[in-house]
Amino acid sequence: MNVTAYIGLGSNLDNPRRQIEWALDALAQLPGSRLEAAAPLYQSRALGPGPQPDYINTVARLCTTLAPLDLLRELLALETARGRIRDQHWGPRSLDLDILLYGDLVLADQDLTLPHPRLAERAFVLLPLHDLDPDLILPDGTALTRLLARIDRTGIVRL
Ligand code: ADP
Ligand code: MG
Repeated sequence: MNVTAYIGLGSNLDNPRRQIEWALDALAQLPGSRLEAAAPLYQSRALGPGPQPDYINTVARLCTTLAPLDLLRELLALETARGRIRDQHWGPRSLDLDILLYGDLVLADQDLTLPHPRLAERAFVLLPLHDLDPDLILPDGTALTRLLARIDRTGIVRL
């Protein structure tokens, strides 16, 4: 079965733009998947601990036959391939790939929460999602535009 999944991409280390371009290419080559669209790039201020370089973020729309946990495993393998070391929570990273939405699936698995738990608070996710699908409705019935109306956009610019 084909499902539309939205993947959040982020990088703030080792030439972030190149990391994102590499990741988009890699998403296009995932088994049973087709990369349908990618949003423009955004530059955003890091939220994590201490001074960190700015992030480059975007969102990709993937049409996939991969099951949710298989998709997650593929994404984590891509992060690892780019040399991401999981040491500090919210620390700088060469590549972060999150499943934002997987169709209308609502899931609270130990390894996978869907929709992504921080989706609604993050301008660097909501803005590129809106570029891709302005009429998007979340699984709980909330319109993306409603979330966008109340988020803080400081520190984020569209490139
Ligand atoms: P964050 O992306 O919130 O900064 P990390 O990338 O360090 O945090 O966290 C990765 C872990 O989060 C993964 O090992 C995965 O099991 C878990 N996780 C839970 N829900 C999701 C999701 N929707 N997308 C990606 N990872 C998720
Ligand atoms: Mg992540």
